[in-house]
Amino acid sequence: MNRLKIFFVNLCRALLAITFVFSGFVKAIDPLGTQYKIGDYLEALGLAGQVPEWIQLMTSVVLSAVEFLLGMLILLAIQRRLVSKLTTLFMIFMTGITLWLTIGNPIQDCGCFGDALRLTNAQTFGKNVVLLFAALVLMRFPLYQVRFISKTNQWIASYFTLIFILVASLLSLYHLPIFDFRPYYIGQNIRKGMEMPPGAQQTVYKTTFICTKDGVQKEFDENNYPYDDSTWVFVDTKQEILKQGYEPPIHDFSITNEKTGEDLTQAILNKKGYTFLLVSPHLEMADDGNFGNIERIYEYARENGYDFYGLTASTEMGIRQWRELTGARYPFYTTDGTTLKTMIRSNPGLLLLYQGTIINKWSRNDLPTAEQLSAPLPLLAMGHEPENNTWTKIVLIILCYILPLIFLIVADRLWAWTKWVKKKEEWVKTKEQWIMGKEQSNKLYQLLKHKRQMRKKIVAGNWKMNETLQEGIALAKEINSALMADKPNCDVIICTPFIHLASVAQVLDKELVGLGAENCADKEKGAYTGEVSAAMVKSTGAQYVILGHSERRQYYGETAEILKDKVQLALANDLKVIFCCGETLEEREANKQNEVVKAELEGSVFHLNAEDWKNIIIAYEPIWAIGTGKTATADQAEEMLAYIRSVVAEKYGKEAAEDTSILYGGSCKPSNAKELFSKPNIDGGLIGGASLKAADFKGIIDAWKK
Ligand code: PEP
Repeated sequence: MNRLKIFFVNLCRALLAITFVFSGFVKAIDPLGTQYKIGDYLEALGLAGQVPEWIQLMTSVVLSAVEFLLGMLILLAIQRRLVSKLTTLFMIFMTGITLWLTIGNPIQDCGCFGDALRLTNAQTFGKNVVLLFAALVLMRFPLYQVRFISKTNQWIASYFTLIFILVASLLSLYHLPIFDFRPYYIGQNIRKGMEMPPGAQQTVYKTTFICTKDGVQKEFDENNYPYDDSTWVFVDTKQEILKQGYEPPIHDFSITNEKTGEDLTQAILNKKGYTFLLVSPHLEMADDGNFGNIERIYEYARENGYDFYGLTASTEMGIRQWRELTGARYPFYTTDGTTLKTMIRSNPGLLLLYQGTIINKWSRNDLPTAEQLSAPLPLLAMGHEPENNTWTKIVLIILCYILPLIFLIVADRLWAWTKWVKKKEEWVKTKEQWIMGKEQSNKLYQLLKHKRQMRKKIVAGNWKMNETLQEGIALAKEINSALMADKPNCDVIICTPFIHLASVAQVLDKELVGLGAENCADKEKGAYTGEVSAAMVKSTGAQYVILGHSERRQYYGETAEILKDKVQLALANDLKVIFCCGETLEEREANKQNEVVKAELEGSVFHLNAEDWKNIIIAYEPIWAIGTGKTATADQAEEMLAYIRSVVAEKYGKEAAEDTSILYGGSCKPSNAKELFSKPNIDGGLIGGASLKAADFKGIIDAWKK
């Protein structure tokens, strides 16, 4: 079941990642196209002209980069919790927008995938609902996403991705989009792009005429239009598509001489030889910095007998201003502004046509120079349609981005693996030496001095009297799955109420998570109604038991004597004991903490022999910090744990003390765990409240990761 859940979460993750990466990339490499789309949205919202173009352009670059980055972070499972929340927010926003598009139809194409893939508004909405569901799944189970790269190196992948997409975006802005998804790509014959295939269905429209008479508005169609009744005054028309027919890729291309009204489209497209088209949707906003180059190209065209036209949607005045500003002598004709923006993502941009086929395109920053135009076009490479270099570009992207990323992941995995192997080897070596009785040797002592080589790092949860059986099983499953997806760097134990033990034991992977009880009886067996013996605890599959918790001492009167018996019985039944000790606030204020803790140890566990001592884990829990939100500072905790270790050393010797895991407990959270665990004597934590939420518990476990 859990494996199925992990599979499903990762399936949702793949779906989101692929969609975000693709849609972010195709928009990022066409920043002007995305800016135009943002302009459409602003217009639909009645905000046309209110947001400066440079803000729209910046929004376009940032939005696309964020989308691509989010996709890559999901793909690589980086910052899983934060990223799944951000993705959900993003999808809620996008689904809202596409719902508005589906209902109101203010924009025909949402622009989700730039020009690479066009969906109807209803299709986009459907897609977003699916993605929103996937995002919610990730947000619910963020830790089920299997990591590809360790936490330490995640930042490299994140920054590298951000730099890559921003560079791709800016290069596309300066030159032209790396990939051209529009119908005016190099190699396209515009005439052919406008053709309807034989037998293709034409789109059927319904036109409605709005007229008014005596303040009353009425709609008419072609059949009942009041041609004979002149008292109706025409106001407006609206057109709706009744049946969508075939729409050729180029359906809006025309060139008109505004002065004579002459349609020059066919004449220009059918022209034998070369034609330069200087394209500028709006001359008023065109970059005039390269007009010298444009003039040289115009001169070159005239000298060699090639046509050179300016195409614009600007008014006569705009054209006049441009001529005054640049000295332009070439003729200007009119083409629809949107068409011009589609033809080339540069204002101005230059197209070279040969018999109606686009054979070259230049942004205003890459116009051919005089040196490049040293001979007639047939003798120059630019006078011929270039080979399709899509694959070269794909290979370049693989070399510049995908391969380094793969190298990083492989190096990271190798690094993590060697670290793990090294640790394991050290551990085995040390253990062997110890078993061989070399513990007296200086070398071993040096090794024992390093706690992280010898004693176990542990994070243990104490659920206390919380969670019903069903809730407890669900929580245990969640913790288990999170740890399966992302292996811990420490021992993990969960200690549950008695009734949960047997069921929880069934859902835990023993190799990953240990199981413990929160208490056991001080009697072996017999007529002790309501009690649960150590043997019973053991029979559930549990391996640990917490004894001496301050709540048991305080509310159930457990004395040092009673605890001594419990410890004895637990060990006799092969359970490891997490033995708690700690002072009250008054005792600390009276500076009696050392005395109190030492007495608790002496009273209940210091009678054990060295062999039994190996099965004791100590948890120092200052009572004033338990469940209060007050945490002992890392230094306070370290001081106490160092003291406890010194007391253990006095009793069992230095080596045994170095071998003993001593935990800190008391309002430990993901936010303070790292600092606490960084102290040399703190070997982990006993966690109360924060162990009831899988994400928080996992956050504390992760504090052991570098
Ligand atoms: C505890 O009771 O063991 C404990 C440490 O609780 P909390 O983490 O909630 O303070």
